[in-house]
Amino acid sequence: MNTHEPRPEQRRAAMAPPEPEVAPDAPAQGADDNATPLLSSRLVFTGILAAGLALMTVVLALTAVDYWSARQSMLQDSRVEAAIVADNISAAVMFRDADTANEILGALRASPMVQAAAVYDTGGALLAQYRQDFAQPLAATLADTSMGGLPERHGLTVLELARTVMVAGNASGTLYVRKSMQAVYTRLAVRFATALLIAIGVMGLATAMVLRSRAAVRDAERRLHALAHTDAVTGLGNRHAFNERLSGEVQRARTLSTRLALVYIDLDNFKTLNDTFGHAAGDGLLRQVARRLQSVVRSTDAIARLGGDEFAVILRTELDDAALQSYGQRIVGVFRASFTEVGHQITVTCSAGIATYPGDAQDMDGLISHADTAMYRAKEMGKNRCVRFDASMNQAMVRRQTIEHALRAALQTGEGLALHYQPLYAARDTSLVGAEALLRWTHAELGAVSPLEAVIVAEDCGLITGLGYWVMRTACTDAARWQAMGAPMRVSVNVSARQLADPLFLERVMDTLRAAGLPAHLLEIELTETVLMDNMEAGAQTLHRLSQLGIHLAIDDFGTGYSSLAYLRQLPMRRLKIDRSFIRDLPGQEHSRTIVTAIVALAHGLGLQITAEGVETPEQAEYLVRQGCDMLQGYHFARPMPVQQLHTLLLQDPAPGPA
Ligand code: C2E
Ligand code: CA
Ligand code: CA
Repeated sequence: MNTHEPRPEQRRAAMAPPEPEVAPDAPAQGADDNATPLLSSRLVFTGILAAGLALMTVVLALTAVDYWSARQSMLQDSRVEAAIVADNISAAVMFRDADTANEILGALRASPMVQAAAVYDTGGALLAQYRQDFAQPLAATLADTSMGGLPERHGLTVLELARTVMVAGNASGTLYVRKSMQAVYTRLAVRFATALLIAIGVMGLATAMVLRSRAAVRDAERRLHALAHTDAVTGLGNRHAFNERLSGEVQRARTLSTRLALVYIDLDNFKTLNDTFGHAAGDGLLRQVARRLQSVVRSTDAIARLGGDEFAVILRTELDDAALQSYGQRIVGVFRASFTEVGHQITVTCSAGIATYPGDAQDMDGLISHADTAMYRAKEMGKNRCVRFDASMNQAMVRRQTIEHALRAALQTGEGLALHYQPLYAARDTSLVGAEALLRWTHAELGAVSPLEAVIVAEDCGLITGLGYWVMRTACTDAARWQAMGAPMRVSVNVSARQLADPLFLERVMDTLRAAGLPAHLLEIELTETVLMDNMEAGAQTLHRLSQLGIHLAIDDFGTGYSSLAYLRQLPMRRLKIDRSFIRDLPGQEHSRTIVTAIVALAHGLGLQITAEGVETPEQAEYLVRQGCDMLQGYHFARPMPVQQLHTLLLQDPAPGPA
């Protein structure tokens, strides 16, 4: 298992809330995407309409004011006009000179607004008149109101004015003028029409501008949306797009009662490749991977890059389980041919996990979680494979998460954590020469959790550093106490892969020894073959430094990792612990006997001391002593025990000093 992979829940936590788009036919997006513009166009339309109405009201108000003032000024002008005519005509009236009066009135022809004018004598009889051709005839006498004579009337279409003609201070007749308002209305109509046209023009311009800027904004929004939903490296949809699409597909499958499969794909060795060949090559590789994956994806399916070296494929599927399995194989097969990037032939593999809706999960979150779990299992099973989700994985997952949480809490308080010590005996005289520190953890609900399980989870979620130093600190402090008790004895501490990979490991170990006051030679570090092989390059230097400082190094569980002793001999190891699986069948089984004999010979040849672990019977012990093992450990001698019990043992049988 790659211990640097983020845990599935971490991956899920990093997932953003769903946002629209990318996948061309995501049903969920449609509703949302269309509703917003519809609403905003309606808002814009309402705004423009309101502005138009306001402008219309202003135009109407202005027209009303215009009408009022035009009418007033017309009235004023007409009065002045009538006064002038009355003055001019007074002599003719006095002499009852109808011809001259007619002539003077006729001059009103120059004013097209005057429909008719007449002058009456003091008796009310018509003396002279002027009227336009189409105008109504005037009353024959001033008293004849039925003809529209007197009094003054200010109607909507005509103005009728009467003016007394004065001669030497005496009234000698009456001038009557009827004027049409037509011209006022014509002028008003022209002005209104002009204002209306200007208003419409302004509105049109404003609308065009609003629509244009809206179009520009929408365009920018669309581009932003596309950018936010596209992976810049591969051009595939990104995590946002994936979430949105998956949510839509789950909804669709639910509505149509169809099936859906989700494939999670994680490249196995991408980080190393990226570090080795550089980021540009890494990006190029991701692009190639994306292209190859696209070639096995149908048009109805969607593919996205979720970030880093993670991809996902959403399958609208009627595939049965077998077909789904072979689809997974096809995805893994995509990586079979090597890639060429920056002139290098690069081999990349992937681990993939498949989960289905509604078979495995009933909602989107479940589907993601299960596909992730299956992919994670593919990694655990050795990578380069595709695994179908099954429910048992989930139980394991839940337990792992529970352990992680509990362990995190335990590390803060130290509650439930303890070390048990299993004594190590010298083969020649079965004297107590050391003890191996073994982690014990009892949790209130989970009960006793095996150290193997706790260490795997801790390695996985990064808690191993804290846990490892707790063990180291406790073991060194206890061993310092044994020395103070007058029974110095070496303590063996198990160290896992990720601990050794910690760049601060050496420094922290030295700090721990110093703080505990324990001499370096009283500490032994046990490392399994796999840990050593995995850390060959980076770890070697740390191991040499540790050894130079006097710390003993032991190879644990030897024989299980198929490593080459010749290879391991480049490392400053002092001891080799034969795995208990070879001890179990001793001395009866020949195969085990052969192996043990070979290991002992080889190790001694390389100058390594040998411990046999898991010694359960006197026969085994006797056989191992005969073979030349240096130290023995196992239930036959003592089980792992609490530190107080070890103290009792130490006081009964003071150790002759560390071997
Ligand atoms: P290991 O290092 O090989 O530890 C020896 C294991 O064998 C212990 O199991 C011990 O109880 C068991 N054992 C000892 N004598 C006998 C015997 O005669 N017969 C049988 N059947 N078993 C025997 P335990 O304590 O359950 O530890 C299991 C493994 O957990 C350890 O294997 C070690 O790999 C890991 N572990 C324990 N404590 C720590 C720790 O503090 N740090 C790390 N990194 N790993 C630890
Ligand atoms: Ca061990
Ligand atoms: Ca062991």
